[in-house]
Amino acid sequence: MGKTKAKGAIPGLTKNALTVLEKRYLKRDKEGRILETPVDMFRRVAETIASADSSFDKKADVAGLADKFYAMMTNFEFLPNSPTLMNAGRELGQLSACFVLPVGDSMEEIFDAVKYTALIHKSGGGTGFSFSRLRPANDQVRSTSGISSGPISFMRVFDAATETIKQGGTRRGANMGILRVDHPDIMDFIMCKADQRHLNNFNISVGITEAFMEAVEHDADYTIFNPRSNEPAGSLNARKVFSRIVKQAWENGEPGIIFLDRLNKDNPTPHIGVIESTNPCGEQPLLPYESCNLGSINLGKMVKNGAVDYDRLGEIVRLAVNFLDNVIEVNNYPLPQISEMTRANRKIGLGVMGWADMLILLGIPYGSPQSIALGEKVMKFINDEGHAASRELARKRGAFPNFKGSSYDRPGEAPIRNATVTTIAPTGTISIIGNTSSGVEPLFAVSYVRQVLDKNILVEVNPMFEQVAKERGFYSEALMQRIAEHGTVHDIMEIPEDVRRVFVTAHEITPEEHIEMQAAFQKYTDNAVSKTVNFPNTATIEDVEKVYRLAYQKDCKGVTIYRDGSRDEQVLSTGKKE
Ligand code: UDP
Repeated sequence: MGKTKAKGAIPGLTKNALTVLEKRYLKRDKEGRILETPVDMFRRVAETIASADSSFDKKADVAGLADKFYAMMTNFEFLPNSPTLMNAGRELGQLSACFVLPVGDSMEEIFDAVKYTALIHKSGGGTGFSFSRLRPANDQVRSTSGISSGPISFMRVFDAATETIKQGGTRRGANMGILRVDHPDIMDFIMCKADQRHLNNFNISVGITEAFMEAVEHDADYTIFNPRSNEPAGSLNARKVFSRIVKQAWENGEPGIIFLDRLNKDNPTPHIGVIESTNPCGEQPLLPYESCNLGSINLGKMVKNGAVDYDRLGEIVRLAVNFLDNVIEVNNYPLPQISEMTRANRKIGLGVMGWADMLILLGIPYGSPQSIALGEKVMKFINDEGHAASRELARKRGAFPNFKGSSYDRPGEAPIRNATVTTIAPTGTISIIGNTSSGVEPLFAVSYVRQVLDKNILVEVNPMFEQVAKERGFYSEALMQRIAEHGTVHDIMEIPEDVRRVFVTAHEITPEEHIEMQAAFQKYTDNAVSKTVNFPNTATIEDVEKVYRLAYQKDCKGVTIYRDGSRDEQVLSTGKKE
């Protein structure tokens, strides 16, 4: 076994996948020449991650485990987040996608955070921050008797640092900026990306409190606080603020919202700290200085004889939990504080991709009641099996060090290895590598143009559609072209009805159905769910407001919306002309 298996090819690796791997993932020499094949890369990752088993069990079959890890990655049944693929077994060795850093209300603390951000971005990680502890603009600065410039002006510093590091790093650095809804600068924050030239390296979200939602409900005012003194600094009308958030999101998709109190209700380690932010895409709430590594199971590979293959899914979940816990062991953390916090809570984020593909294989239209019910069932299975696997690991390796006093520390409950087990990531790049649909999103289009990395444009017909069209005999170049221009198949009558019914795309699914799906997966996910609710260009502000409220009622942890055509630049676009 071992190295000899590194020869050969990977049958399912597509041209697009190879392009992505060659651009950023494969090892290069100083002159930029590629030094490894995709086979070498997966072997490097499998062996490095498997090696961690030997620190718990001297007799562990590390080689056998490496083979299993290699097989599940090259069958595209499971892939870890990009930094693990890029950096495992290499000098940098930083394997996590998600970080949250604290930003304190002093020059030292702010610029320390800028420096830490630079170190994390260099290694391919993304950073989230709450800026809520910064005193508002035009507040007093005692040391200089001057006035403060406020959270938004400091966000620009983080943005500029990210922009600069873009060139030299492994991938584009991404940031999440959060401001509590009860911060005095909240109105400026809501508008801070209205000019689309600003803060392009940030996603922004308003941190929503229960008190605020209650005030919205009763059309009441709510109190804002100056974080410098923690004193009340006035009040705002909740509905006015909520309307401004919704209108701005309708204009260009931001700000999103995250339900901060809800994140803290589910914080497994409240004795260690308060959750104030998530990672850049919103799916991973973390404590300050905490990091998390993600991995996703490709549900498109978990269908056998027209049904969900729960046996294989269970096996992959157990292997994946072992894999992700090992990542924490061999990870090279950018800062000692991050190493300490991450090792003490041992959060992992196992999720899924290829959900839309699974539904197509099962003949179930995305968004239908049947699809919502199955989403809950599949995720419950993954969550239950994942927790069982983490408990199994705890028996051999011990519970996570902060277990005592955590929400798991209850009489009669078995210790668990990881403070969180499940997260639904966007899987933006690993779904291209795995040739599957992203996360729990519907197909964006049956045929589309995709811009990846630094604007390499890939034109694609959905591979499952191409296959069905060929098998059922209605494939033609002309038809694929027509679909690319039209953007949907639902009204192209020469395509059989049962095919049109299951190849639904994001725009044919109502915003309410998008939320129902997000809520279905959230119900059985420890962390959060990355999901975009798509609206047609013609959607009204009221439509958006309805969905924000629905997400709250349905126990989602946040909402991200996008109204078609509302931003200058879109990552994905259909070829639709009319
Ligand atoms: N991320 C990042 N920069 C990027 C893409 C992603 O920092 O260009 C981080 C961010 O924290 C995001 C997480 O990686 O929430 C997971 O994103 P995704 O699943 O799309 O990553 P993949 O593993 O597919 O590359």
